[in-house]
Amino acid sequence: MKPVRQNGIFFMAQKRDNSAWIKGGAISGGGAPPSGGRAWRLILLGAPGVGKGTQADLLCERLGPLHLSTGDVFRAAKSAPASERTPAIERALGYMQRGELVPDETVIDLVRERVACLRDAGGFLLDGFPRTVVQAEALRQLMQAEQLTLDGVLDYELPTAEVIQRLSGRRTCAGCKAVFHVVTLPPKREGVCDHCGGQLYQREDDRPESIQVRLDAYAKSTLPLTEYYRKLDLLIPISATGSPEEIFQRTLEALQARV
Ligand code: AMP
Repeated sequence: MKPVRQNGIFFMAQKRDNSAWIKGGAISGGGAPPSGGRAWRLILLGAPGVGKGTQADLLCERLGPLHLSTGDVFRAAKSAPASERTPAIERALGYMQRGELVPDETVIDLVRERVACLRDAGGFLLDGFPRTVVQAEALRQLMQAEQLTLDGVLDYELPTAEVIQRLSGRRTCAGCKAVFHVVTLPPKREGVCDHCGGQLYQREDDRPESIQVRLDAYAKSTLPLTEYYRKLDLLIPISATGSPEEIFQRTLEALQARV
């Protein structure tokens, strides 16, 4: 991968392999920051539906950090054969299916088991973790022990009504995981993925009854996180209105302002 320089920031061309994070195995090879560039260590915050996943993809494709999403770990565990799931993972999946947060201890253990990914020389982008102040404190201790510092916490902001509209219309491809929207990004053929022909489905946690539970859980547990990171002078608020590319450019400007 040859990095390209634009506005003082080095761009990569594709997302790096994060299978060590998803499966919990040993990291293969390890990454490196784009030459002359920097390894970003970032956290993404924002209510479900603000477009964090899209921004995560853009940031990881272009700036090179490993994409570390705790939700992706749980979803991968869900599609794994039942014989490969530990009792702790089974319990965690029950919470996830109800749209509730998985208990802190379980999630912290899961991240601790994957600490090699935090050490990766190419940096990381945590997505969906931490979700509570207890998790944030555990992460702070973990990073301190590893002598790693956080560059910033990107906090994407969007009005609640828009969040609900975005989430309830979201459809995901069962094959390639591409994301569509019944109103704003419909597939060419209803229910069928434009990219791989796979079947589109509504994620269990995107159903209306789960959305409200998720938003309530976010308000109760995650908003205090913004306060936590503001006090540490790490919070970077970003408006999540507009197209993914506009939001990405806004993110880059905010990051540039800090380096
Ligand atoms: P996400 O894809 O980040 O929205 O996560 C999907 C679901 O996984 C959440 O609704 C939770 O049930 C669970 N989950 C993911 N990350 C965490 C976390 N850091 N703490 C608690 N639960 C989590």
